[in-house]
Amino acid sequence: MQIASVIVDVPTMRTDKTYDYIIPEEWTDKINIGTRVAVPFGPRSIQGFVLDIRDHSEITKLKKIIEPLDLTPVLNEELLQLGHWLTETTLCLKVSAYQAMLPSAMKAKYKKILHLVSDTHDTNLREIFGQKEELSWEEAEERKVLPLLQKEVKKGNVEVRYVVKNKGNKKWVRSFHLLLSWKELETVLSDFPHNAVKQKCILEYFQKTGKDQLSINQITEGTGATLASARSLVQKGYLQEKQEEVYRDPYENRVFKRTEALKLTDEQEEVMAPIVRSIDDKRHETFLLYGVTGSGKTEVYLQSIQRVLNNGKEAIVLVPEISLTPQMVHRFKGRFGDDVAVLHSGLSVGEHYDEWRKIQRKEVKVVVGARSAIFAPFENLGIIIIDEEHETSYKQEENPRYHARDVAIFRGNYHKCPVILGSATPSLESFARAQKGVYTLLSMKRRMNNKDLPKVSIVDMREELREGNRSLFSRELFSKLQDRIEKRQQSVLFLNRRGYSSFVMCRDCGFVIQCPHCDISLTYHRHTNQMKCHYCGYEDHVPTICPECNSEHIRYFGTGTQKVEEEIGKLLPEARVIRMDVDTTSRKGAHEKLLQQFQEGKADILLGTQMIAKGLDFPNITLVGVLSADTMLHLPDFRSSEKTFQLLTQVSGRAGRHELEGEVVIQTYTPEHYSIELAGIQDYNRFYKQEMMMRKIGSYPPFYYLALITVSHEDLMKVVSTTDKISKYIRSKISKESIILGPVTSPIPRINNRYRYQCLIKYKREPDLAKNLRMVLEHFSQQKQSEGLTISIDVNPYMMM
Ligand code: ADP
Ligand code: ZN
Ligand code: ZN
Repeated sequence: MQIASVIVDVPTMRTDKTYDYIIPEEWTDKINIGTRVAVPFGPRSIQGFVLDIRDHSEITKLKKIIEPLDLTPVLNEELLQLGHWLTETTLCLKVSAYQAMLPSAMKAKYKKILHLVSDTHDTNLREIFGQKEELSWEEAEERKVLPLLQKEVKKGNVEVRYVVKNKGNKKWVRSFHLLLSWKELETVLSDFPHNAVKQKCILEYFQKTGKDQLSINQITEGTGATLASARSLVQKGYLQEKQEEVYRDPYENRVFKRTEALKLTDEQEEVMAPIVRSIDDKRHETFLLYGVTGSGKTEVYLQSIQRVLNNGKEAIVLVPEISLTPQMVHRFKGRFGDDVAVLHSGLSVGEHYDEWRKIQRKEVKVVVGARSAIFAPFENLGIIIIDEEHETSYKQEENPRYHARDVAIFRGNYHKCPVILGSATPSLESFARAQKGVYTLLSMKRRMNNKDLPKVSIVDMREELREGNRSLFSRELFSKLQDRIEKRQQSVLFLNRRGYSSFVMCRDCGFVIQCPHCDISLTYHRHTNQMKCHYCGYEDHVPTICPECNSEHIRYFGTGTQKVEEEIGKLLPEARVIRMDVDTTSRKGAHEKLLQQFQEGKADILLGTQMIAKGLDFPNITLVGVLSADTMLHLPDFRSSEKTFQLLTQVSGRAGRHELEGEVVIQTYTPEHYSIELAGIQDYNRFYKQEMMMRKIGSYPPFYYLALITVSHEDLMKVVSTTDKISKYIRSKISKESIILGPVTSPIPRINNRYRYQCLIKYKREPDLAKNLRMVLEHFSQQKQSEGLTISIDVNPYMMM
């Protein structure tokens, strides 16, 4: 007898272990390690992952697995190990780790079913169920028998069961295949019965199109005939019906022009050499490719991948979600054609699933995707590339809280292949590792066009105000905008994310309207004239009088993209503006369409939030303006200077990438801040030194590792006392070199009526920390369940709020 150890889809600490089940005889060769299965669990049937198969179990009364949910295992040996490592390092539940690696189409969906307990003789019930034993919840609702059945559930005559519904949804197309030769078809048609007009139409349509296979859609559209007519032809032996699985290809209708490898520059040759050595020697090495914007990093990626493909291996390329623009996709599809699968959040669940299956079936060799593409189930990986490695979106902010960079290095180690981290502004952590020799540093200092980096001028907005300029535009930026419009060149205007949220404030008493459930101000949305909380979704109308002082002077403030657009409309009415922000890009494909229009020269100014900072490579952009550089600087986050520097450098890099020279204007209220000043002269090295000093003084990464514990509950006292207990416990377990800050309130002290407290641990070496943190989770899991306490632990946090 074979016994499977199964992790079940019940996300609690208590069930975070394997359960043994008997593998039924008929499934022995179908159920393997890594297969998803449906198993009985209490009254329900739920999904699980088989982690091990043995021939005995310590448990005596075992249940049987109901059925396998896959024909081939979805988790291979490597992914199983990786899942284990994820649970150890991020302290997540095992089931969350495995689910994170699979497309969401494979997440179990459960269907509620009413099951007739077999020995009832109630005629009423018999009538409802008819010949069957089961009735779906929806059907019972529809037939209005649900209340009655719920009473029967109480009596024990009917059971509510949950069954695993979804096994991944493949898309099928029905098509018809012509079984006659063209000659035979002609003969058949010449003698076709007159009462079967529609059938004749279908055959004639095959003849007319010259195709020997047509989908049912093609047939109905081309002839107006129905499925029934086509099936009559099947009965007559003229056609054959087929069900064919098709992929939903989001890039189906696009042609990608093939590109050839470019002749590398000396600098590119130099950085390629060690990468190629690592590929050919089948040796794991992590490279930090530090190359200024426009230095040709992508070509290095492309040619490294080519090398890997020539060796018969596979490649993963990660790019940040927002730079998964068609431009970037083009560059990879253009070079490697149908060998490329693309994974990003714009895909429907089905499309995502299809791209994933292409990988699993080894129909593609390269994956380009956002964070979760790091789990692509390749078995013969030859290289992993992370572009814009400094982007914080590579850290997942929900369980499992993994960083794609760490996963990449795990997989690089497993497959003995190189990992390339590329950036013009490497994260401090990565650059420090490169300095220490943990990563190999590769630099490219020159831009491809041999042009200098664009000239940057920093404008002090306080000065503008003093001179009486109250506009959003400094005089310098405004005159440059005018100049570009006259020259028919393009400009990009950039608003920092935090800067675009406008708030509602009373001009008389200064009262700012806050969310009643969170300690954060509400954001004004112009098109609906509503105020909205970005944390809990609370919405309200803008009041006409101040709730504090009854003044009528209550207005919205802040510079939203819409407001900037209006102001441009007033000052430069002839300018054609494309606005890109969450409002204009929420529809699928809108992002792409707007960029396309801009590229085709249909606008003079591209105005947007940070989503436009990445990956833009248009020849006609000669001016970049940053409207407010410092909005991010004042966030309670030790990375705020780093983020500001990175963002300003990246945005500046959008100008003058081709023939025309570029200029950048950065407007700020704190021109003396080193992150702004050094971004202005694009001096990464000086910024690195300065920021390292700040981090050393503050005992922050890369000098210390961090772990952040956040506790939340509706009752403030409970939150404080729990956080206090946790802090004391950790303090008793940890060495003297480590620092514990807490309990303290979170930077956002309340979200959705739940108070939030933190305990921050700073440490250099604590081999037992993970174990102790897990103890905390286990110890409090009981209390968590009964009292609704939430405790989250983030190892290496990127969100400090
Ligand atoms: P980065 O990713 O470093 O910002 P890109 O890869 O976008 O830079 O390269 C900038 C431009 O230079 C692109 O238009 C690219 O096609 C071009 N380019 C890159 N390498 C070469 C080369 N060896 N010869 C000619 N043009 C190149
Ligand atoms: Zn007021
Ligand atoms: Zn709120």
